[in-house]
Amino acid sequence: MPKLDGFLAVKRKDPGYRAVEERVLDFNRVELMLSEEEVVEQATRCMDCGVPFCHIHGCPLGNRIPDYADLIANNQWKEALLLLESTNNFPEITGRICPAPCETSCTLAPDFLATACEQIELQIAERGWKEGWVLPEIALVKTGKRVAVVGSGPTGLAAAQQLIRKGHEVIVFEKSDRLGGLLTYGIPNFKLEKEVIERRMNQMIMEGVVFEKEVEIGRDLSAHYLLHKFDAVVIASGTPLPRDITIPGRSLEGIHFALDYLTQQTKIVLGDTIDSNEYIDAKGKHVIVIGGGDTGSDCVGSVIRRGCASVTQVELLPAPPTVRSSNNPWPQWPLIMRSSSSHEEGVTRMWSIGSKEFQGVNGKVKRFSGVRLNWKENSFTEIPGSEFILDADLVLLSMGFIPHRESPLVKEFNLALDSRGSIQTDEKYRTSVDKVFAAGDAVIGASLVVKAINHGRQCASSVDKYIRNAHSL
Ligand SMILES: Cc1cc2nc3c(=O)[nH]c(=O)nc-3n(C[C@H](O)[C@H](O)[C@H](O)COP(=O)(O)OP(=O)(O)OC[C@H]3O[C@@H](n4cnc5c(N)ncnc54)[C@H](O)[C@@H]3O)c2cc1C
Repeated sequence: MPKLDGFLAVKRKDPGYRAVEERVLDFNRVELMLSEEEVVEQATRCMDCGVPFCHIHGCPLGNRIPDYADLIANNQWKEALLLLESTNNFPEITGRICPAPCETSCTLAPDFLATACEQIELQIAERGWKEGWVLPEIALVKTGKRVAVVGSGPTGLAAAQQLIRKGHEVIVFEKSDRLGGLLTYGIPNFKLEKEVIERRMNQMIMEGVVFEKEVEIGRDLSAHYLLHKFDAVVIASGTPLPRDITIPGRSLEGIHFALDYLTQQTKIVLGDTIDSNEYIDAKGKHVIVIGGGDTGSDCVGSVIRRGCASVTQVELLPAPPTVRSSNNPWPQWPLIMRSSSSHEEGVTRMWSIGSKEFQGVNGKVKRFSGVRLNWKENSFTEIPGSEFILDADLVLLSMGFIPHRESPLVKEFNLALDSRGSIQTDEKYRTSVDKVFAAGDAVIGASLVVKAINHGRQCASSVDKYIRNAHSL
């Protein structure tokens, strides 16, 4: 425990964000960082509780927060990094974009402000990169066994890194032109700079992971090939299918899936040229984002940076409460109203809204027609006379994702699906097909990076055991 009365003597400090008027002019990271001294001071607020809920309940990875807070408070940064890396392959990523369930479950959270766990994690990770402590970890003994990983999102990357370090040969197949899954083509640069991913990819390449980009399993390469040529296959293909809306006017021009827009924005930020016929232009437009979640919020921040005339985010569900309700006590994740940095930049948020129709002129969307809803328990009715119309020159659909179901990947491998249509696995991440494992969003549905990394690590451990048992290594 760094300091007995640290949590009383030191106030929680957050790094804050760049000023709105400055940050909306670029796609650079919006969140600032505390200085090293400030983070050390924040670390002294950790109470090293007898039951550290941050570690055992909040963090899906089981990050040992009290222990590394103690280490940095004692100026043992390298030891802190080793401890952090023992549970988390990519702390520089979770340190940037995790919603930090560790903090909401911190013992200080209900009455005092939580320990700044995420900033501590980020500072340890970045110090490690700065000092050159993050080096490739090359397995001394090679097993000669081969594992194929399908998908290079956080699940696939974590699984690949764990498996290469166990001495197996690992090839990651990625259908996209860049690695990282939603870390790259999903989460905007202003939340997660893409150099951060590239830096980690270079480490993995040096460790021996082979990345095959623009190869779609199920189309470019068959399941038969993978089953024949590899000792195990890990499917980490995410939830690639966006949920659509079926209301009149859906086929009008100017209505796009959020992820298509966000992907294009990242490509532009990374210097790609977009064909003018395909460019989704928000400049000067009234934008409607349908879906009140995080993907929608990322669209809000992006269209504001592209100079939209206005942006409105509409959500079907009612606004969450501002404080925890009695059936959602600490240390559970609080189901409360949240506002992102993008929301601060200028958006109108509407809750309990039903989408009725898109109206157009000359085939292009011009208006969005909605209605206010009255929610009672888990069902809603439309409020008579509450219909409204909003200008809408661009509509971004951000209503979540649906599982694989009929994807070529699932069909090719002949994988059993669960009742939601996600890939079915047992507790060892085994699918219904021998030597095929699956993990991450492909199994649990749209989730969080920290859960994806955890799944990737656990799955890798199962694959390693499977290979060793099968071949008596
Ligand atoms: C816009 C957006 C913002 C988000 N922001 C956050 C955030 O701030 N914090 C957070 O914690 N979480 C966030 N998430 C959620 C998080 O990104 C996901 O939970 C996480 O990326 C899931 O990881 P994954 O590896 O399972 O899947 P993905 O990241 O989706 O990766 C799957 C990869 O598999 C590839 N693939 C699919 N099929 C094939 C195939 N047949 N052959 C080869 N490759 C294939 C895909 O191209 C993709 O690269 C966000 C999600 C979205 C959509």
